[in-house]
Amino acid sequence: MQDNKHELKVLMLDAGTGFYRMQRYRVGDFFGPVDLGIHLAYKHNALTIGAGLLAGSVFPGSNRLIFAGISPCWHGFYVSSMGGAALVFDNLGINMLSLVGKALHPSLLYLNRDHGEEIEVELIQVVSEQVWESGRQGVYAVMEHAIRLFGSRYEKDPRVLAVGPASRFTDFGAIGSAPVKKGMLTHVDTWAGRGGFCSKLFQEHGLLGIIYGGTHIDEDFRDRSVADEWFQDKFNQRMAAKDMEVTTKYRYDPQFNTGGTFGVNYATMDGDILAFNYRTVYWTQEARRDLHERFILNHYLKQFNEETIETKQQRNCGEPCAAVCKKMHGIFKKDYEPYQTMGPLCGIFDQRAAEQLNHRADQLGFDAISVGGILAWLMDCLDDGLMTPQGLGVDQAPRWDMATFDVVGDSVHNAELGLALLNQMILPDGKIPLQFGARKFARRLSREKGRPVLDRFVYNAFARQGWMVPNQYWTPGAYAPMAITGKYYMHYGRDFLPPRELGRKNASRMLNELILDDLGFCRFHRTWAETLLPDIVENIFGEKDAFLRSITLTASRNTSRNASVFWESTRNMDMVFEFLKNKKQIDGVSHPELARWIEFFTRDKHAAAYEFWYEMHKGIHERLREYPV
Ligand code: SF4
Repeated sequence: MQDNKHELKVLMLDAGTGFYRMQRYRVGDFFGPVDLGIHLAYKHNALTIGAGLLAGSVFPGSNRLIFAGISPCWHGFYVSSMGGAALVFDNLGINMLSLVGKALHPSLLYLNRDHGEEIEVELIQVVSEQVWESGRQGVYAVMEHAIRLFGSRYEKDPRVLAVGPASRFTDFGAIGSAPVKKGMLTHVDTWAGRGGFCSKLFQEHGLLGIIYGGTHIDEDFRDRSVADEWFQDKFNQRMAAKDMEVTTKYRYDPQFNTGGTFGVNYATMDGDILAFNYRTVYWTQEARRDLHERFILNHYLKQFNEETIETKQQRNCGEPCAAVCKKMHGIFKKDYEPYQTMGPLCGIFDQRAAEQLNHRADQLGFDAISVGGILAWLMDCLDDGLMTPQGLGVDQAPRWDMATFDVVGDSVHNAELGLALLNQMILPDGKIPLQFGARKFARRLSREKGRPVLDRFVYNAFARQGWMVPNQYWTPGAYAPMAITGKYYMHYGRDFLPPRELGRKNASRMLNELILDDLGFCRFHRTWAETLLPDIVENIFGEKDAFLRSITLTASRNTSRNASVFWESTRNMDMVFEFLKNKKQIDGVSHPELARWIEFFTRDKHAAAYEFWYEMHKGIHERLREYPV
């Protein structure tokens, strides 16, 4: 695979001194950017950026770039990933980059391996504000600037990891990157969105961006006929056929005449729609269905289908993948979760309005899910008069009245309010200071304006200050006390499971997701990947057992430091309580445990929520104990 297929090569770089060296680890002791990442995070507080062992191979989805380290917003060890970006990283001829130290001035890091044995490493000082205000602005301007400065030094197209202003002013900046084609930056931006790693890159390492690439050619696994044999043995299908089958949702699903996470999720959610800062969970099923039909099916989704699906505006993330999950409309890329939090959750149901708000948040380099959750929360407080527009530095309240809601006009109004609120987050003396995170800000507001302000903010809490806006699925799994929340290290099905069982299922999901992340795989290929990957590790490296041991060790290592805090906001509790009631009343589930929990929540919501949360916690530990480490 690599120069020596039994080694992981890690470029250890101190951004403070510019000193670097190559460190080698035996495959078998470590396998990838997560199990080695947690080791380096606790040893050196390093930020690890790396490719999986199978990057550059014939396996579809094998080129995800993985970021691992202690998260500035979650405050625990975190893993975030970016589609396609490891394909170019593989041309450096290393597996990982491990960053420590901080550059004295904001700098761009240049990495290039051009036909030689050595990687060229340079740190170039830049003036961040000047770069952010140039060209396409923000993260896009950083990519453009890096390409302008260094692009001509690369024989093959490089790639840039870019930082936006959100990383300077908040703890939840996201790393943005778009594939470069023939020297030109494309509009297909990809994100390591969660965990605030861009804030880490900027605030702890002084980096505004990293440009990387090269010409190094590894002996990557390219034998398609051997891969086909392995797929035939396991699934009775060749690799391409199996992959096409499992990625249907992300490409185009004829069952729903749409595709991608945006298309399929909105087409199928029915009364599970979450809007107006989750207020819809208190509505009747009829009211939610009415909203879904009128505003989503007949407008928001209809626009998407006409503009993106029917015109086949779809691209890949940079690796030649048949799923083409990147659904575009001109320069705008449409994924479910950003267009949900900065869409219906903020009272926005029109594509033009959502595009403006999402694009600005992207330009600034925010974690889109988290910033959308904050915007929806603040709009909720404004709408209920818990806070004044002036107190947040804006001049209007949202228009959230369903009785008179104008799907285009009011969506535009709410998006404009969202833009004004974003501005307050990135001003040095703005009214929404998030340098130490949204949870700390919520606590301050709660002291000044009263507890109901905090009670409307939906977030998961960790340790003293850690926070994370949950994934946009109305299911208790999204609120479970996992060591890492905000990504799919949990069961997010819509079925009812008693909390102990749900905790166990969450832990199983986490183990499978760790297999994907540690090997740098895209989870959209998970249906075959998590089953077959351990066998592939055996076939190529002879280390299946050690690999699986390393995954369980990583899971239990991280869970042993799980400092998740019980739900601080009553709306978190209500998300679970209303979910349970709906399972019984709407879906007709007759599980005796369900009836017991509903009765308990009705009698004493706080005590029931506490018990439910701890049952999930117990289930997680119980499941992990079943694995020898
Ligand atoms: S499914 Fe999407 S993100 Fe994943 S590898 Fe394919 S194109 Fe990239």
